[in-house]
Amino acid sequence: MLDEEYFSKVFVRFAKYISENKEYLTELDSAIGDGDHGINMDKGCKNALEKIENLKLATPSEFFRTISMAILSSVGGASGPLYGTIFMKISATLSGKTNVTIEDLEEALQNALNAIKVLGKAEVGDKTMIDVWEPVVNKFKESLVNKNSLSEDLIKTAKESMERTIPLVARRGRASYLGERSANHQDPGATSSYLFFKALFEDLEVKD
Ligand code: ADP
Ligand code: MG
Repeated sequence: MLDEEYFSKVFVRFAKYISENKEYLTELDSAIGDGDHGINMDKGCKNALEKIENLKLATPSEFFRTISMAILSSVGGASGPLYGTIFMKISATLSGKTNVTIEDLEEALQNALNAIKVLGKAEVGDKTMIDVWEPVVNKFKESLVNKNSLSEDLIKTAKESMERTIPLVARRGRASYLGERSANHQDPGATSSYLFFKALFEDLEVKD
């Protein structure tokens, strides 16, 4: 069972990875965007950390809603609304649950993925965070059906999917303005999404 404490550790880890990779994300976004992805994400995560520190006895749903609101209120650009939507959808899916099952988590991630695809109108292959999100959510679903070991496989899928954005030509977001010149660079949002899944899954134990 996953409780608020588990998700709190996940978010603290995510914020740490973002902070440690702030320069790297900035470099990636300087190559094919405007160089603010590391700054955006770090600002949003720090603001969210402050807000969750003041939350007492929160449910997982309240916890993720607080994160969503903190990100939406402090991050602009493409990534603010996208990550804000991710955490809002996770919150909505987990509403009313104090102990979250692996199946609930899978459903929450599926709902988050569906929502960001509607919002950003990107598909796999467009060189965005969807290139990481969709294969990871699919792998998660498949692992649950087959009862495979989860965490290592999912993190590996996230990493490989992130790396697969390198040769792609961007068709959505700011990087798409570069056309062919966006190829041969790793997508910044796919990279922060990899960090998210690493933080989310690295401590996950599945018992059946
Ligand atoms: P901005 O592009 O507004 O400067 P960021 O630099 O913070 O915002 O985020 C850029 C990342 O957002 C990209 O690397 C990409 O992964 C993601 N992104 C941009 N547009 C979209 C979209 N339409 N759908 C999904 N993800 C997108
Ligand atoms: Mg940017």
